[in-house]
Amino acid sequence: MIPVQGYAGQTVAVLGLGRTGRATAAALEEGGAIAVVWDDSAVARDAAEDDGLLLRDLTKAGAFEDVACLIVSPGIPHLYPAPNPIIAAAWDADVPVDNDIGLFFQSFATSEWEGFDTSPRVIAVTGSNGKSTTAALIHHILVENGRPAQLAGNIGRGVLDIEPAHDGEVVVLELSSYQTDLARSMTPDVAVFTNLTPDHLDRHAGLGGYFAAKRRLFAEGGPDRAVIGVDEPEGRYIANQLIEGPADDRVIRVSSGQKLTGQGWNVFVRKGFLAEHRKGRQVASIDLRSVTGLPGAHNHQNACAAYAACRTLGLGPKGIELAFKSYPGLPHRSQVIAEKGGVTFVNDSKATNVDSAAKALQAFPKIRWICGGLQKEGGLEGLLPHLDHVVKAYVIGREAADFARQLVGVDAEVCMSMGTAVAKATADAVSGEVVLLAPAAASFDQYDSFEKRGDDFIACVKDALG
Ligand code: ADP
Repeated sequence: MIPVQGYAGQTVAVLGLGRTGRATAAALEEGGAIAVVWDDSAVARDAAEDDGLLLRDLTKAGAFEDVACLIVSPGIPHLYPAPNPIIAAAWDADVPVDNDIGLFFQSFATSEWEGFDTSPRVIAVTGSNGKSTTAALIHHILVENGRPAQLAGNIGRGVLDIEPAHDGEVVVLELSSYQTDLARSMTPDVAVFTNLTPDHLDRHAGLGGYFAAKRRLFAEGGPDRAVIGVDEPEGRYIANQLIEGPADDRVIRVSSGQKLTGQGWNVFVRKGFLAEHRKGRQVASIDLRSVTGLPGAHNHQNACAAYAACRTLGLGPKGIELAFKSYPGLPHRSQVIAEKGGVTFVNDSKATNVDSAAKALQAFPKIRWICGGLQKEGGLEGLLPHLDHVVKAYVIGREAADFARQLVGVDAEVCMSMGTAVAKATADAVSGEVVLLAPAAASFDQYDSFEKRGDDFIACVKDALG
């Protein structure tokens, strides 16, 4: 745990008692603050009280009188679609509002560091897609190269839940737009921006607000090094704002697909090869085509970003290349789960929307595609230009028939259940093909989560392969 610094003896209110809120309350107490906590849900309040946390009804008038700061969990809106009334009350009472990420950055460094040979570093990753993959890949590369590292943030472990840093340790954080929007302090040594596509627009009142939230990571304090995906204008804009001239190597530009020719520090993929250029000259090249844990142009983009972030810490290209090869992939994201008779089985259950499914469908040449589920707004039209690698679709979900009808020009069979879809796809598949789960839909019509759906796919593949 990272004890929160700066509030010893003061009262700090915590709103939201999920994993983040409870870890935050504990870290505040550890740092000597008095944490008073609240949640709209009575069940969450009871559980917190059972754990010995101090409840305070923050909806009551005067609740903020002695409060130094309000810490808010990421699921609670502070502006759009409408401010949570408790947050609005804190504003009215002139109480600063922050989140666990802000507390982390304010508390991470300690006086112990003066005795360290190498100061601990923080790498923070944000963007619309590929955050988890990039953050997990950076962590994997560091560990494989003998650098002590911890992984936290949006990816499972709360930032205040990690161990205090050792000499030379690197903390890799995945940060969502909800987290970067509110944190008062964000001072990573290296900040990574993967890409930008529309998402969470209701929470940010449109694409501009969403981008502004992500951009804060590069504005507040400014990282020593910034790794920026420049395939969209927003990335090019951030890179341009940070540089002081054409050869400024504090910014590393990353692209999946276009050759970057500037005089600065560039990492890009062309035809499956990652290239690193500095001052206009190539300094390294890696063949990504044989890296099974990172298939497709989207994962090559993640590989470039992770490569660049690790290069800023002085790791060599060879060591990074070796670590790429041993990267096992994250569960439910382009995860190779089995291979038999030349057929590969890939679990991309996290492809819950049209955009991420389209990326998965471009990653393999011949696909037996398991898709369907609870459709998202906007329909499936966005998928239609990306179906050329699909040999056949096996559609699951309660609305499977309607889903299949929308896949114009594709041989689509209505299977309804995962078991049926996997059995049929496995029976039909021939050597060189991939049986891919990339649903392009949410899972909630049949499962509690995309993880449960992916686990079911894995179990069905095991059954089908005997
Ligand atoms: P995030 O943490 O940003 O949601 P993940 O790494 O968990 O990203 O991937 C989420 C989904 O997006 C997966 O289906 C994955 O295959 C796809 N994806 C991963 N990286 C990228 C990328 N760079 N661009 C577009 N889609 C991606």
